[in-house]
Amino acid sequence: MDNSPPNDSDTYKTLLESTKAIPWKIDWASKQFTYIGPQIEPLLGWAPESWHSVEDWVARIHEEDRERVFNFCVQQSLQGLDHEADYKALAADGSYVWIRDVVHVIRTPSGEPEALIGFMFDISERKKTEEQLLNMQKQLEELSYKDGLTGVANRRMFDSVLEREWLEARQHQQPLSLIMIDIDYFKQYNDFYGHLQGDEVLKQVAKTLSHAGVRAKDFFARFGGEEFALILPETNALSASKIAERCRNLVFKEQIPHAKSEISQILTISVGAGSMTPGPTDDLKAFVESVDALMYQAKHDGRNRIVVKST
Ligand code: GH3
Ligand code: MG
Ligand code: MG
Repeated sequence: MDNSPPNDSDTYKTLLESTKAIPWKIDWASKQFTYIGPQIEPLLGWAPESWHSVEDWVARIHEEDRERVFNFCVQQSLQGLDHEADYKALAADGSYVWIRDVVHVIRTPSGEPEALIGFMFDISERKKTEEQLLNMQKQLEELSYKDGLTGVANRRMFDSVLEREWLEARQHQQPLSLIMIDIDYFKQYNDFYGHLQGDEVLKQVAKTLSHAGVRAKDFFARFGGEEFALILPETNALSASKIAERCRNLVFKEQIPHAKSEISQILTISVGAGSMTPGPTDDLKAFVESVDALMYQAKHDGRNRIVVKST
């Protein structure tokens, strides 16, 4: 077999017009289409005869992509560089189709662009998959920072926010407050009402307490198990004690029955609140432990109460 390409134009035309890619050609000087494959019509609904000049092409690019794609293609063509661009093309029915345009620049012997030839590919399926992947990624990110049961921020998020706020507080010499919250006699709650009902209560408590801090910077998270935490930047001990008391009240107001609590007929919480303006030698872990100790102090003192300390 002689392996040279076919030399009759009918063969080329048939080849060009039977592929999925849509061939086209634009004369550089006049900016007119000298050819566009008939496949354009089934894809976008615009007949080949309606593609007169570059302006028709530009007008059929989605507004969001138009300037970027046009400028890029002109710039590349002027430099004689082959290129490709993705954009949403307007279809005759008003919808948009994702297109990848792959462009080859034909140059005059002196290097000026003479014509552009290229193929348009329908890449809507690929874009759809890309979008799905992006959505999944976003969901994954959310999942890894969100507590799966209650939907509030999880421990991981808590750790990173606290670290950031600690550094901010130290740098600007502002007080930082931390509130640790633990449900009283929750083991007995689970034992009596069942674990699933226990889960429901955790959700309810999380939802209730997520409104305890009112400023945008206040940050609420599930610390673990039946423990929650509230980070209060630029907040001194006095303000923190008020918010700690608000937490206790908010949960109390929910009036969740707890027949097996040893101190009440309804569900209560114990709260520790600590506040400090960190200095260069202070340790974040020690601060968290000191607030945790305040919460245990509240347990020890009889539960359903707050213990506050400023360091
Ligand atoms: P205290 O008043 O001293 O805090 O007593 P407590 O029973 O609340 O504390 P303890 O640490 O003994 O028990 C905590 C319980 O919280 C035990 C555990 O089963 C329950 N718990 C932790 N995480 C979950 C959860 O995701 N769902 C449910 N339903 N229960 C949980
Ligand atoms: Mg606990
Ligand atoms: Mg508890």
